[in-house]
Amino acid sequence: MDIIGIADVKHFKAAPEDQKPENILPNANTVIVVGIKLLDAVVETAPSREYAIHYMVVNEELNRIAYHLARHIEKMGYEAVPIPASSPYDERNLKGSISHRHAAMLAGIGWIGKSSLLISPEYGPRIRLVSIITAAPLTPNEPFGQNLCGDCNICEKYCPTNAIKDSNLNKTACVSYMRKLQKDLGINDLICGICVKVCPYGRKTRKT
Ligand code: SF4
Ligand code: SF4
Repeated sequence: MDIIGIADVKHFKAAPEDQKPENILPNANTVIVVGIKLLDAVVETAPSREYAIHYMVVNEELNRIAYHLARHIEKMGYEAVPIPASSPYDERNLKGSISHRHAAMLAGIGWIGKSSLLISPEYGPRIRLVSIITAAPLTPNEPFGQNLCGDCNICEKYCPTNAIKDSNLNKTACVSYMRKLQKDLGINDLICGICVKVCPYGRKTRKT
């Protein structure tokens, strides 16, 4: 793993009702968030089949890490539930049981950028995330308290379907573009990756 943080469940008060950790584990105390950095050269190919496969491989790695961490926590005597790193598995509402991005922000890993992605100061949006909800009373990190996007609007400018506007993501426009890519590239996953690629945070050259 490249990054890890721990969020206190008390900070999830503002989360949507159907995305609270206690819905899954009633005696949850903390949420561990783990991140793996995507390979730079692969991100530069996005959108591509290579990016889609890499995305899937990194998700599998994250799911394995989350499983082993949860097993370890269980052996220590606490309940732990890994939340998969896959694409949103609530296909109808396009969301997961909790939001990894919000959990990562609450775990001090980074901020939610104008692209709606989690941006870490070091890796930008070039990280995939997984979460483990646990009853273990771990020492939490402080939530990430800043938004470092500033005047940048590069993701908005480069989004091919104008899905990013005024720091909001039009999910429907984004997903319909990804469905088009799915057909054009002949892939199973819903991916695009342009807003990941163009963000100056995490880019070695910091150029677009
Ligand atoms: S994933 Fe692609 S379509 Fe969706 S917001 Fe990012 S750049 Fe736009
Ligand atoms: S491209 Fe710029 S505005 Fe968009 S998320 Fe990255 S820093 Fe923020």
